[in-house]
Amino acid sequence: MKSVHADGNGVWVGWSGITDEELNDNLKSKVNAKIEDAKCRAVGLTEADVEDFYLGFSNRTLWPLFHYFLEYTEFEKSQWEAYKRVNVKFAQVVLETIEEGDTVWVHDYQLLLLPQLIKEARPDVTVGFFLHIPFPSYEIFRTFPWREELLTGMLGADLIGFHTYDYERHFLSSVKRILRLDVNFNEITYHDRIIKVDSFPMGIDYDKFYNAALAHDNPNTEKSELQKRLDTHLNVADNQKFILSIDRLDYTKGIPNRLRAFEYFLNTYPQYKEKVRLVMLAVPSRSNVPQYKKLKRETDELVGRINGEFSTVSWTPIWYFYRSMPFENLIDLYTSSDVALITPVRDGMNLVAKEYVATRTKQDGVLILSEMAGAAKEMNEAILINPNSFEDFATALNKALTMPLEEQKSRMRILQKRLKRYDVEKWAEEFFKTLDATNQIQDISI
Ligand code: UDP
Repeated sequence: MKSVHADGNGVWVGWSGITDEELNDNLKSKVNAKIEDAKCRAVGLTEADVEDFYLGFSNRTLWPLFHYFLEYTEFEKSQWEAYKRVNVKFAQVVLETIEEGDTVWVHDYQLLLLPQLIKEARPDVTVGFFLHIPFPSYEIFRTFPWREELLTGMLGADLIGFHTYDYERHFLSSVKRILRLDVNFNEITYHDRIIKVDSFPMGIDYDKFYNAALAHDNPNTEKSELQKRLDTHLNVADNQKFILSIDRLDYTKGIPNRLRAFEYFLNTYPQYKEKVRLVMLAVPSRSNVPQYKKLKRETDELVGRINGEFSTVSWTPIWYFYRSMPFENLIDLYTSSDVALITPVRDGMNLVAKEYVATRTKQDGVLILSEMAGAAKEMNEAILINPNSFEDFATALNKALTMPLEEQKSRMRILQKRLKRYDVEKWAEEFFKTLDATNQIQDISI
């Protein structure tokens, strides 16, 4: 989103990442200056807001529920109250910021009530909403105790966007069955307004990744320490192949399953022992939430066990990094890998899969992608797998590692063409075009 914001003339409203309690006078002036520079307005959040609204309701209720993890979902009334309170805080800042004729674009599951709060106070303002995570099927969504209020909150928008047609369909089904509203194709009639629902698969800043990879390939570019280390193993250890996975350490990303499947693969195809290496970057995330702590323990143990089981004097099957990496190092990893193994058990979109493709300047490399990622809907030329099947994993890895270069290139070329055309700028443009068109329908119907 950063590039879309930088190129546009909008104002970004968000939390600064520093709580009201932490914000002393000295810090305040520094933060305010930064915020002004970045064309932003800050919403102040207290420690209690962060605990109950962000770590609580957003990440212990909506996140697991919308990703089909009912067993992790908590329905805590006090956290729901915090969610409503913080959505009102955002509404206050938005309402102070907007001017006549403005359009507001609300993003994601933390702010599902905000469209209605804006629309009620300023019916003249155009509101768009985009959900970056899946919208679950009605059978899941109906379990949510405050389902009517949440849907009504979203219906404050004039256009509601999702990554895929399936999420759109699920949402419309919930609107029909829970709110009993008229839904005609992809339009909802609500309080004399027509609300349009559509899908807009989010793209990446394609040129940024492609150009960074080109610069990386240039022999005059100085190599990072990570790249030197990767090179040593690529050259020394008998032409080893690298399989890359990058995710936040989140239970939706299917990391333990991937590790077990990799173990199964090494047992099923022993000829790959000492020939392949899984380079796994897991970025710390929401580490105050208990399920994430448990996942960290499980991942550490699995990596330790598998490395213990297979390692030889000259080979460790898994290189595991638990940290976030700067952009240059991400490019090192993307460009050095023969295969990307992206296998979430549920994912709204998955941008890592798209970034890997964008960095393959020689059009080699193979993407193995879970069917459960929204990105799979537009990336048919990847090897698509069911992330719950070890057989699928093993067969796909073998296929990827033996795929003729010509086939790699023909698949990669089609993927790249599509991603370049439908990049993040185009995604935003399409959203706004549809939002404008929705307004015109509104004017005609009035
Ligand atoms: N990423 C990052 N630093 C890292 C590893 C990844 O900034 O150390 C970025 C990556 O480039 C991608 C994003 O994090 O743009 C992850 O997005 P994705 O849609 O794959 O998953 P999400 O984390 O949003 O669920």
